[in-house]
Amino acid sequence: MKKHNFSAGPCILPQEVLLKASEAVLDFNESGLSLIEISHRSKPFVDVMEKARALALELLNLEGRGYKVLFLQGGASTQFLMVALNLLEKRAGYLNTGTWSDKAINEAKIYDDIYEVASSKNANYNYIPKGYEIPTDYDYFHCTSNNTIFGTQMKSFPKCSIPMVCDMSSDIFSRQLDFSKFDLIYAGAQKNMGPAGTTLVVIKEEILGKVSRHIPSMMDYKVHINKSSMFNTPPVFAVYTSMLTLDWLKNLGGIAAIEKENEKKARLMYSEIDLNPLFKGFSAKEDRSYMNATFSLVNEDLKETFDTMWKEAGINGLNGHRSIGGYRASMYNALSLDSVKALVEVMSELESKA
Ligand SMILES: *Cc1c(COP(=O)(O)O)cnc(C)c1O
Repeated sequence: MKKHNFSAGPCILPQEVLLKASEAVLDFNESGLSLIEISHRSKPFVDVMEKARALALELLNLEGRGYKVLFLQGGASTQFLMVALNLLEKRAGYLNTGTWSDKAINEAKIYDDIYEVASSKNANYNYIPKGYEIPTDYDYFHCTSNNTIFGTQMKSFPKCSIPMVCDMSSDIFSRQLDFSKFDLIYAGAQKNMGPAGTTLVVIKEEILGKVSRHIPSMMDYKVHINKSSMFNTPPVFAVYTSMLTLDWLKNLGGIAAIEKENEKKARLMYSEIDLNPLFKGFSAKEDRSYMNATFSLVNEDLKETFDTMWKEAGINGLNGHRSIGGYRASMYNALSLDSVKALVEVMSELESKA
């Protein structure tokens, strides 16, 4: 029986994607060969890569606007330093909204001066700072659209006259945004797109080539762009599975369609957190994430009972991150409304028992 998988990442993928991906591992397109044993330079795989890149641009509505798509390795964590290496000459502004922003800041600091435009660290990142200024003479501004660990999400983005870089690892393809406001978007695949092992980078080419340092080839966006994301052997399985997920999303009706589903799930989840007196939410209401809902029991004595109940209901991956404790329900694109209903049922059953 398939579990209700609320895991924060790696996380749930559409069942039909898993099925197709597993078939391709055994026999790719009836070629008598596995997807993972053919050359990445062969036409069948080059087609996969090209389709994945095209689908990403199409879904983000960024076709014909000077953006390039890369599927790189090293996770979003490598992007923390790659962004700095490629874009940071003197100074950059960072919005510090959680553990991942903080890590991005620390990596960039290795290369040059970093200025935190605002931070919610003093409140254990339970809200998104607002009303800050972004200096107009900096190299770029960096933010994190969704804070996976703390369950906050940026509902709007600041006016920004310098290049805007965004870590969208945990909410890419989940809601409609004007993606053309961003000059560089990156996202580890394993939160909303595919298996771990590849990171999507969408970059406006014109922002490159402005730093004076020598950039090592593997760290240089231009090198990867010039080689159509095939400078070295790409993670073929991760790229293929991501392509399948993007295709699944397109067939569903794209981001507009999935956004409606995501709103339904989040509304149901948060209304239970708010109405059930046994639970309390972690993050500021106006900044609540539609992807990761963080909450805890008001009375910790009920922990054992609750934990047994949700596990018995076939629910997986509900434990909160160690830095905030409690629970975290991650409701990525592939999670069905029925899974959220199952969780909400357990929560209200606890209430009727207590
Ligand atoms: C998970 C996550 C990361 C780290 O991703 P890796 O691929 O493990 O390096 C970075 N940023 C955000 C917002 C994340 O959710």
